[in-house]
Amino acid sequence: MNFRKPKGTKDILPKDIHKWHYVESVIREVTALFNFSEVRTPTFEYTELFNRGVGSETDIVGKEMYTFLDKSGDSITLRPEGTAPVMRAFLENSMLSDSPLHKLYYFTNMFRYERPQAGRYREHTQFGGEILGSDSFYTDVELILLAKEVYNRCGISNFKVKINSIGKPDERSAYIAKLKDYLKDNLNDLSEDSKRRFETNALRILDSKNPGDRSITDSAPKILDHLGAESKARFDKVINELTKLSVNIEVDFRLVRGLDYYTDTTFEFVSEDLGSQDALGGGGRYDGLIAQLGGKSCPGVGFGSGIERILIVAEKNGFTFGEAAKPLVYFISLNDAARDKAFELIAQLRRKNIPCETDLLNRSFKAQMRDANKLGVKYVYILGEDEIKKGIGQLKNMSDSSQTEVEFNKLAESLA
Ligand code: AMP
Repeated sequence: MNFRKPKGTKDILPKDIHKWHYVESVIREVTALFNFSEVRTPTFEYTELFNRGVGSETDIVGKEMYTFLDKSGDSITLRPEGTAPVMRAFLENSMLSDSPLHKLYYFTNMFRYERPQAGRYREHTQFGGEILGSDSFYTDVELILLAKEVYNRCGISNFKVKINSIGKPDERSAYIAKLKDYLKDNLNDLSEDSKRRFETNALRILDSKNPGDRSITDSAPKILDHLGAESKARFDKVINELTKLSVNIEVDFRLVRGLDYYTDTTFEFVSEDLGSQDALGGGGRYDGLIAQLGGKSCPGVGFGSGIERILIVAEKNGFTFGEAAKPLVYFISLNDAARDKAFELIAQLRRKNIPCETDLLNRSFKAQMRDANKLGVKYVYILGEDEIKKGIGQLKNMSDSSQTEVEFNKLAESLA
């Protein structure tokens, strides 16, 4: 075979699909508990949405987007993240006129041209939540609790929530001036990336992974010490509430988002089980984003979480994701007439929501038994010449090998 999947993508095969179904069902269950509604947006958007809604200084826009011109010459980008498309849909559909508050979630694939490695793909799947319309500190807490509940139900409890506040835009600008003042004496020792960021986005020097940069920024001024009283009080409320609710948090001054419209709380869920790509999910407030996209100013907070990484951590913890779906009963047919009858009975049972399987390879009795065993069905129903004549089949319970005669029209009852 000459074809291979594109680098950084994956096939999810039948042997693993139940894990995905499990996580997805947990997400649907938990979002319903929290009263979040699903929103689905297109797989691609006009590129300009991400340029404005994510920001040209970010890695996503700077180097990771799958962007192309379509046949009419419009610049199109495959969705690299969930927030900007949801904001676009929110504005375009005037959702705020329906209700002053919206709690939305998405579950969808994302595309980023990144260097593939464990836990990092070029196509990955995220679920994410957004709360729009309220600046209450409870909304930050609610989103963190939503993600936590999903992780917990997937058997993940060994994670912590790194958290920080980057305050209001004016507080941040004043802080950045102080940070630059501190960094300017060490400018030559910073990495090339950080030197560039010194001019374009100095805040992001704090989250550089470069050890040299980190030792320089270790003793840099901290943004939490430079917040106004209101922002500081808001952050304290978030921290107190999360502490009260026993969420494992760690204040981390390096957690910045480096974009003008981000405000106040930023957070990231990290797990040691993930290795270098240790983020299970991340998010923060973006009270300035909707105005940036041309809407009336509206507060918001959101997060996104990678499903692949949830699976990695859950599997490391030995989580079982429930069982793969399997048929309840396997029809074994000993001749053509029996096979025909089996098809008729199977159709009736399936209408009654009883999952059935039969042989589609014209196999011998023995091979059909082997197939039924392999599938792990609870019953086999055996049909031969005699059975067809009498309207009765042999129902065999695979767990104790007991066998009883069951009339065709009593089969659904016996299986129930
Ligand atoms: P971000 O928008 O970069 O904060 O990403 C949100 C979450 O999506 C991360 O915490 C990861 O769990 C996941 N994620 C982001 N990029 C990738 C990727 N390339 N491959 C797999 N998961 C990813």
